[in-house]
Amino acid sequence: MKITILGAGGMGGRFGMMLHQAGNDITLVDGWQANIDAIRQNGLQADFNGQPVTVKLPIYSPEEIDQIGDHADLIIAFTKSNQLATMFEAVKPIISENTYVLCLLNGIGHEEILKNFVNIDHLILGITMWTAGMTGPGHLSLLGDGNIELQNFTPAGKNFTLQVIDTFEKAGLNPAYSENVKYSIWRKACVNGTLNGLCSLLECNIGELGKTDVAEPMLRTIIHEFALVAAHEGVDLDEAEVYQHIAATFTAEIAAHYPSMYQDLVKNHRLTEIDFINGAVWQKGQNYNIATPYCALITQEIHAKEQILGAK
Ligand code: NAD
Repeated sequence: MKITILGAGGMGGRFGMMLHQAGNDITLVDGWQANIDAIRQNGLQADFNGQPVTVKLPIYSPEEIDQIGDHADLIIAFTKSNQLATMFEAVKPIISENTYVLCLLNGIGHEEILKNFVNIDHLILGITMWTAGMTGPGHLSLLGDGNIELQNFTPAGKNFTLQVIDTFEKAGLNPAYSENVKYSIWRKACVNGTLNGLCSLLECNIGELGKTDVAEPMLRTIIHEFALVAAHEGVDLDEAEVYQHIAATFTAEIAAHYPSMYQDLVKNHRLTEIDFINGAVWQKGQNYNIATPYCALITQEIHAKEQILGAK
């Protein structure tokens, strides 16, 4: 399959590398010049479960790809949420009525952005449990296993989604067709909406958060706010199950982990995806006349911290 990946960071790089190794025709597009330069010079490099791997992949800036006139069967979006609209605006010329777009970003509401650029019958949404980190421009840390759930946004797109699943299966990405990906997206957003914001504000890892006396009431309140808003979008979240799912991380191997928002904001002073997680619940809550004070406060505190740290 001819696939263009928009955003060649940790996840875009992982998917690009694994899909290339399975024989697909991969093109990367990225907005970070140092990353483009490093991949052009040295290839895309990774510590892949302890093995050094390098693959040569074409990589372009959005402006360059527009000039080349690339026409992929599938575009995979792997920017950060807050970069999504700018990236799609910049690559408009390569998206036609026939282009399929898969979005695996964390957070809620990406379809509202993507609908402005993509034929909605060609939109595929999903979540992934694969992980990835950037150790520098052009260099990734790819550890462990993962899987993917995906579903076409409208019934018309199902045949192509099944082809994507077949392609991903052959690349070892462990995909599965979901009959209700919207539920999975909201459930995963609850994980990010609790652990990411709180660990970033408290500057602690997941285990340290879990050991505090107030972790349980804070998590339950945040999950409840997500559930109230999700119900207005046709998603009936099982709050008790979602809480148990998140609380299980407090004592798991992942407890020593600092969530990605912590790493982005506290360590690297980068802007966060908060507007697509707690911020999305707060905004949607305002539209539905639902109070979401915890989500509102977390969103505003994260934005304040972005400003204090001079995040870019
Ligand atoms: P990333 O930050 O690694 O890359 C996203 C974009 O930011 C890329 O274009 C990259 O080149 C650019 N970038 C990275 N570091 C930069 C820097 N220092 N300066 C300027 N630009 C920089 O993001 P990611 O981890 O690949 O995440 C992409 C999406 O996937 C997000 O929505 C994320 O929440 C989601 N996700 C991530 C993981 C994970 O383990 N990383 C897992 C599941 C879902």
